[in-house]
Parts: sequence; structure tokens; C-alpha cells
Amino acid sequence: MLNHLYSEIILENSRNTKNRTEMKAPSRVERGHNPNCGDDLTLMVKLQDDVIVDASFIGTGCAISTASMSLMIDLVKGKSIDEAQQMANVFLGMIQGNALSDSDLQLLKDCVVFQSLKDMPARVKCGTLGWHCLLQVVQDVAPGA
Ligand code: ZN
Repeated sequence: MLNHLYSEIILENSRNTKNRTEMKAPSRVERGHNPNCGDDLTLMVKLQDDVIVDASFIGTGCAISTASMSLMIDLVKGKSIDEAQQMANVFLGMIQGNALSDSDLQLLKDCVVFQSLKDMPARVKCGTLGWHCLLQVVQDVAPGA
């Protein structure tokens, strides 16, 4: 199960509404749906050249899916598409049980709280939903990446 500290970070971020807002004229919109849990979130991204200058999300989902989406947005804002893709790969690898190097830990920051999802298979789709939306955006922008 999630330990106390991790649960608090997740709860706090699931209630945080600063990233939960509809964006005007987003460059990319990507909806993620997890019917097992009822999560239905849409990621909105504004790109300038290959940099994510802004991101937000709308929709409804459980604490884990919304907290993960919101923390991911904090992490990738201001980053290039390449950096965002690298973060997504490290995050998804972590959920699959990969060990994290020091540079991986620095890269993911607070998003490492979701590491415990690897022991909670039923919630994996909740915690990775936002990241799959992000990967889809990355692939749309950089085909073959
Ligand atoms: Zn969920």
C-alpha cells in the first residue's frame, strides 16, 4: 500500500486545481480514458517550436489519476518534447519495476511517489493515464520518435 507521505502528496495534488483548467487554443489535445476506474481526463498542451510552454487538463478521475496528471504537468512545463519523452519513458519504466538511478530520481522529482504503483496492478492505469496522453502528444509532434 501507499505509505503515509506518498498518500499525502497524492491527495494534495489531486485536490490542487491550478493545472485543472481548460486551455484556450491548445496546440494538442489528448484524451485518456480508463474504463476500469472511470478516469476520463484530457491533457491540453501548448507548444512553441518543440517546447511545452503550457499544459493543463480537464475531466474527472480518481485521486491517483488526477494527482499523477497534475504532477506530470508541473514536471514537463517548459521542457522540450525530447525531454518530456525521456521523462515518460523513465516514469513508465519505473511503474514496470525498473530501478531508478540518481539522475532518474532527479528527473522525475515528486512523480517518484507513484513508484509504489508497481505493487498495485489495479491502479497502474490510473497512475499512467496522463503519461500515456503525453506520449501520444510527443508522437504526434515527432513521428517516429
Ligand atoms: Zn483511477
